[in-house]
Amino acid sequence: MSLAHPAAATESTDAPSWSLVIHGGAGVIERSRITPETDAAVRTALDAALDAGSAVLKSGGSALDAVQAAIVILEDDPNFNAGRGAVFTYEGSNELDAAVMDGKDRNAGAIARVHYTKNPILLARKVMEDSPHVMLSGEGADRFSVESGLEQVDQAYFGTAERRRQLEELKANKVSWFDVDLKYGTVGAVARDTSGNVAAGTSTGGLTGKRYGRIGDSPLIGAGTYADNRSCAISATGAGEYFIRVGVAHEICARIRLKAAARTEFLAQEAERGGSKPDAAMLAQLTAQALSAAEVQQIADAVIAEMGALGGSGGIIYLTPWGHQGYSFDTPGMYRAMANSDGGNRVAVYGDEE
Ligand code: ASP
Repeated sequence: MSLAHPAAATESTDAPSWSLVIHGGAGVIERSRITPETDAAVRTALDAALDAGSAVLKSGGSALDAVQAAIVILEDDPNFNAGRGAVFTYEGSNELDAAVMDGKDRNAGAIARVHYTKNPILLARKVMEDSPHVMLSGEGADRFSVESGLEQVDQAYFGTAERRRQLEELKANKVSWFDVDLKYGTVGAVARDTSGNVAAGTSTGGLTGKRYGRIGDSPLIGAGTYADNRSCAISATGAGEYFIRVGVAHEICARIRLKAAARTEFLAQEAERGGSKPDAAMLAQLTAQALSAAEVQQIADAVIAEMGALGGSGGIIYLTPWGHQGYSFDTPGMYRAMANSDGGNRVAVYGDEE
């Protein structure tokens, strides 16, 4: 399966000192289906989220804080399926999933099926930093949220008229969420800070009409979210079941890590044959230049194609510790945006935009 939108990747030579990529979901996002008002509102929100994350990175803050700052803005915006604006379950409630991961030490926190936390990404971070666990779910996670002092809201806060309409449509047509929810609105961010650390985060309401305690890929470390300073940071959006089966986020990072390591080893041996045994600093430099932007993009595209070949659809955002950043998706569009220390914000919605 060839990807329609391999999309913008940046070169790693003269890597920018920080970078940030965000998404607000992928799916059947086409000009004919999006009103000018929604188009404008989504772009404004992506821009604001990018600014919030960039401000953290510009002032020397951590990748983790930047990811959190960007995601909170999108969770608060009803245009996205995360926090306010989350989709309804079949029973008409909202169950929220989120995850964060720090590439520096591969520490991670995730929550699934929480009901009252205004900003689920903050709860994922609390799990990571204030508990010995990686993942909490359901009522236990709700309780942990209260005990952590996070802001609680009524369920009514999350739902919107449009999300209610989507649930009614699904029920009226007696179809499954895979047939109806063609526009995934999950939000996510990946960042690289001026210390070279990467981080990833994802937040979602899941899929319209989900039942039986269904949990998607977003809060699953390795499926919808992953970060590792040795390779990359990834946040995904799409048909979660397929992303879980492929382990999309970890799979992309693993391929990048192994390829970069093999290339570094080869270059080091060459240098040694030439008479200069590389020291640690030179090895780090060789690793940073081991992969081209096109190679990183190809790896991301290949894993998305594998997920697509199983029957799924969706996309990911990525960045590496060496300055590559981009997206890969097999849907007509993806709400996405990127920035780095070299230039301004790039916001895009449809597949044919740069
Ligand atoms: N990946 C999410 C899930 O399966 C849905 C989305 O991306 O909107 O729960």
